[in-house]
Amino acid sequence: MAPQDTSLITPHSPNGLANVEQEIARACKEARRDRASVTLIAVSKTFAADAIIPVIEAGQRVFGENRVQEAKAKWPGLMSSYQGVALHLIGPLQSNKAKEAVALFDAIHSVDRPSICEALAKEIETQKRRPQLFVQLNTGEEPQKAGVAPGEADAFIASCRDRYGLAISGLMCIPPVSDAPAPHFALTAKIAARNGLTGLSMGMSADFVTAIQFGATHVRVGSAIFGHR
Ligand SMILES: *Cc1c(COP(=O)(O)O)cnc(C)c1O
Repeated sequence: MAPQDTSLITPHSPNGLANVEQEIARACKEARRDRASVTLIAVSKTFAADAIIPVIEAGQRVFGENRVQEAKAKWPGLMSSYQGVALHLIGPLQSNKAKEAVALFDAIHSVDRPSICEALAKEIETQKRRPQLFVQLNTGEEPQKAGVAPGEADAFIASCRDRYGLAISGLMCIPPVSDAPAPHFALTAKIAARNGLTGLSMGMSADFVTAIQFGATHVRVGSAIFGHR
């Protein structure tokens, strides 16, 4: 990305979505990838409906939230006014919220422990709804961060499938803020490939162009679209 491009991403820019779309299109072209191979998840956490509506009206249909309760309060109303919205849960999930999460979300990016697998498997069976599932990796092995350690990823992915019967679509990562993201994206892509997973949920406002270079299929972009939180 050229240095001047960061100035496009101004807080509360009315052109946030258009600028991000333009960057994604350019990154796809440079990586010789089809634009359709990258899903933009507009991360609307902390933003109220009146901030979200203009983004929906501009054509965006895939949104990300990090809390089940917040999403439940905001989205059913919006979804009754606008057709075709898909919601992705990108934040931590507690087992006791699995029922609500399966009911509301089309994708869950934070599968990272057996209790969640068990709760999701039960709700998927009961509700006959099948959200796309991503296993979250803690590629930086940060103690405070959710996610499966890279060394445990293969075994965890196998247990999702074999023990809990979950169809896993891909892997998600959040690189440590202090690190260059590229090695984390490369590691995530490598672990996905050797486990036969095609989905890669990686890249946020600061690094989605790099993530696309490393094969991201889902970029989770908040502040570059909605402004600073
Ligand atoms: C908030 C959040 C994002 C979006 O972050 P921005 O820097 O605002 O683009 C992406 N992924 C996760 C998991 C988040 O919690």
